[in-house]
Amino acid sequence: MVDHISPTRLDRLRRLIDAGQEARFYWWPEWADPDPARGTRAAVLKMDNFECQICKARGRYSRGTIVHHVKHLRERPDLALSIFDPDTGERQLVTVCKACHEEAHPESLRRCEPSAAPITTERWD
Ligand SMILES: [Zn+2]
Ligand SMILES: [Zn+2]
Repeated sequence: MVDHISPTRLDRLRRLIDAGQEARFYWWPEWADPDPARGTRAAVLKMDNFECQICKARGRYSRGTIVHHVKHLRERPDLALSIFDPDTGERQLVTVCKACHEEAHPESLRRCEPSAAPITTERWD
């Protein structure tokens, strides 16, 4: 698993953001690879056992399949692949359910990962 974005990829991501094309990030193998050893998204889902962490904090159980950037991708592209925020030690990437994710992005749902992103066993290689 890649725990931190490389300088080259960060540069590329910043350019995608400038071009309004940051959604492409969600197809990068270091994010999307279904193998938790290689894809950060799968690693977060596995770490959280596919359980929504926001519901969990409220004492409820919901299955979660979306990995949310607590500090939004556009604002902190340097934390795009960081499970923990190195400044605070808090979680930067968390598993959430659809309802909690909509709450987390009242401004624009399209700005975050497509909820239809595949978590299938399909391989990219
Ligand atoms: Zn939830
Ligand atoms: Zn999100």
